[in-house]
Amino acid sequence: MSNSLDGKVALVTGGGGGIGRETAKVLVDHGARVVVADLSEDAGNGTLEYIDGGDAVAFVRADVTDLASMQHLVQAAVDRYGRLDIAHNNAGIELTGPDLADVTVEQFDKVIAVNLTGVFISMKAEIPQMLAQGGGSIINTASSLGQSAIAHQSAYVTSKHGVIGLTRAAAVEYSDKGIRVNAVLPGVIQTPMIDALEETYPGFKDALLTKHPIGRLGTPHDVAEMVAWLGSDAAAFATGSQFAVDGGYLAI
Ligand code: NAD
Repeated sequence: MSNSLDGKVALVTGGGGGIGRETAKVLVDHGARVVVADLSEDAGNGTLEYIDGGDAVAFVRADVTDLASMQHLVQAAVDRYGRLDIAHNNAGIELTGPDLADVTVEQFDKVIAVNLTGVFISMKAEIPQMLAQGGGSIINTASSLGQSAIAHQSAYVTSKHGVIGLTRAAAVEYSDKGIRVNAVLPGVIQTPMIDALEETYPGFKDALLTKHPIGRLGTPHDVAEMVAWLGSDAAAFATGSQFAVDGGYLAI
C-alpha cells in the first residue's frame, strides 16, 4: 500500500457505516491520521475496532445536521492531529417507497437535512480551517442518483443532485484558495443501507444488478480508493468534478 497520504489528517462523516468505515481504513492504510465521525457511537466504535489503527484513528460523535456539532468535530481533529487536510462528507440516509405525492413534507425535509444541508453544514465547518492552513481536499458523497433517477426515491434523488450542485459551487469559490472540492458518485454498493432495502423489498439487489454493466454491485473498497486518490496530491488538478464509481451505471 502506498503512503500517498503521509502527514495528512482526514475526517470521514458517516464513518460508522459501510462506505465511511472502509474509507477511513483505506485513508489510514495510505498513511493519513483519521477522525471517524458518526451519529452512532456504536457504529463509530465498530469502525475503530475494524481499523485497529492505534493512535492514527479516533472517533468523535457528530451530527452533520448541527453546525455546532460539526465545528466541534473539526476542532477535535485539529486538537488531536494539528490540522485538517481531507474531509469526506459522506453521512447519508435513504427513503425508498412512497411515490412523490405520498412522501410527507417531514420525510422529504429529513432526507434533505442530512444528505444535502448536512454537506453544506459540514463544508461550512471545514472550510475556515482549510483556509487558515492554506488548503485541503473535500470529497462529498453524492450518488449515481445525483445524475439520474429511479422511481420511489424522489427525496434521495433530489438530495444527491443538490450535493453535486453544492460541490461545484464550493469548488468555484475556493479552488484558487487551495481547497479542491469534488463529488464521488457510487453506484449501488453492498452496505448496511442496501441490506436494509433488500430486507424491505426482496429482490431489490437483483433488480439493480442489471443496471451495472460490470456485472456486480460495488464494494465500499471501490469507493474508498477513489476518495483516497481525490484526497491525495496526485489529484492536484481535480476540482469541481463528479467521479463515478458505479460499474458503468451512468453509462447506460
Ligand atoms: P450506511 O447506512 O452504511 O452509513 C451511513 C452512516 O451515516 C451511518 O453510520 C449513520 O449512522 C450515519 N449518519 C446518518 N445520519 C447522520 C447524521 N445526521 N450525522 C452523522 N452521521 C449520520 O450507508 P452507506 O451505504 O455507507 O452510505 C454512505 C453514503 O454513500 C451516503 O451518503 C449514501 O447516500 C451514499 N451512497 C450509498 C450507496 C450505496 O449503494 N450504499 C450508493 C450511492 C451513494
